[in-house]
Amino acid sequence: MAEPNRFQIHIASLLKEYDISLEVRPGRAQANVPKHRVYIPGVYSIKTYFITLHEIGHLAVGLDASKLERERLAWEWAREKSIVKPNQDIRQVICALLFRHQCEAPEETPSELYMKLMRWWQNE
Ligand SMILES: [Zn+2]
Repeated sequence: MAEPNRFQIHIASLLKEYDISLEVRPGRAQANVPKHRVYIPGVYSIKTYFITLHEIGHLAVGLDASKLERERLAWEWAREKSIVKPNQDIRQVICALLFRHQCEAPEETPSELYMKLMRWWQNE
């Protein structure tokens, strides 16, 4: 097996720190907060690294806030913890995922901070 890269090493240390189990499976990444478990397709790129950070962020953030606020807080957590600055591609992915969640939660009005995070991709 190949040596773990710095992203995989960082994820492994966060899983340990937050006592989270991880399951690698294809498809959409997911966090199960009550089970303290994250499901990810792997950590093989900067994009999958950020997505994994976001899912771990869901466990760190918990279930108290509204759906969209939890998404925002999990991304803010990922931004704070990441060992690299996200490039524009990653910021665009984050924007697209936030937009998808917004479409999936038409009952909720996104906060100003949510909209600000969605705009972040284009101004850094
Ligand atoms: Zn999420």
